[in-house]
Amino acid sequence: MIAPPATAAAMTDLSGRLAIITGGSRGQGEAEARLLARAGAAVLIADVLDSEGTALADALAADGHEARFAHLDVASPEDWAAVIDEARGWKGRLDVLVNNAGIINRKSTSDTTLDGWNRLIGINLTGTFLGIQSAAPLMRAGGGGSIVNIASNSAFSGHYDPAYTASKWGVRGLTRSAAMEYVTWGIRVNSVCPGLIVTGLNANASHLQPMIGLTPMARSGTPDEVAQLVLFLASDASSFITGEDFTIDGGFTAGAAYRRVAVESGLLPTAGGGG
Ligand code: NAP
Repeated sequence: MIAPPATAAAMTDLSGRLAIITGGSRGQGEAEARLLARAGAAVLIADVLDSEGTALADALAADGHEARFAHLDVASPEDWAAVIDEARGWKGRLDVLVNNAGIINRKSTSDTTLDGWNRLIGINLTGTFLGIQSAAPLMRAGGGGSIVNIASNSAFSGHYDPAYTASKWGVRGLTRSAAMEYVTWGIRVNSVCPGLIVTGLNANASHLQPMIGLTPMARSGTPDEVAQLVLFLASDASSFITGEDFTIDGGFTAGAAYRRVAVESGLLPTAGGGG
């Protein structure tokens, strides 16, 4: 059973807890590592980008936080075993796993190669599965934990990259399956579904302005905004939430297409953005 927290105060305080953030060297993962560290967690930044991740861990440590870097290719079961060993040896526990690492292919169904499909599914979906499966026993040994899977708002529609879309729909399904299985071990599993967040993943992509134009809030989100939602789900502030997915996309999934139709039909004003 996952008991209610003992106190209503400071429920996002992660002091004494260990968090692993995959793909934590840059982008949203970096913002999540920084915020979870500020909330008091010891953070294990796990990524294929060794020099950036090491520099981030060093910078956090210099600011008085507990932070380490570990090399992790999320598609590798051997790497996962080593990272969980590192967590066990460092703190003897694991409280939070953020399955954030991900790539995009940006190819249509006609143009997607089998290698491209397999690589993307291997990282975005199989990597998330391996993370959940690898982390759960150590979380269970400590009495439970929280797993946050980073999906996408493309997991609610037909995004132009079929491999990416399938991987993120898969992450939502995996989230629900794992939540139902691991609730008995005291582990909550939820997913976060961002819309457009400008990072290294998409900084030069041609779709940025069209996406912003369609987003009701008329802007992209920031990695820090996503990190705030991850902190909420990682912490006791969300203690009665499991198996859920949370969009964070400036209203895009809520009805951007209908809003555009309403604006173009004169039913809604353009002021306020997104027209
Ligand atoms: P990012 O800036 O590219 O950061 C992703 C990090 O994951 C990078 O450090 C990347 O390294 C690393 N990574 C890639 N493959 C890996 C692997 N096999 N094992 C471990 N680490 C790996 O991307 P982001 O925008 O922060 O995206 C973070 C997550 O949010 C992803 O799951 C993405 O799909 C999701 N998301 C992003 C957006 C958006 O608009 N940015 C929207 C919705 C969802 P490399 O640089 O070497 O690839």
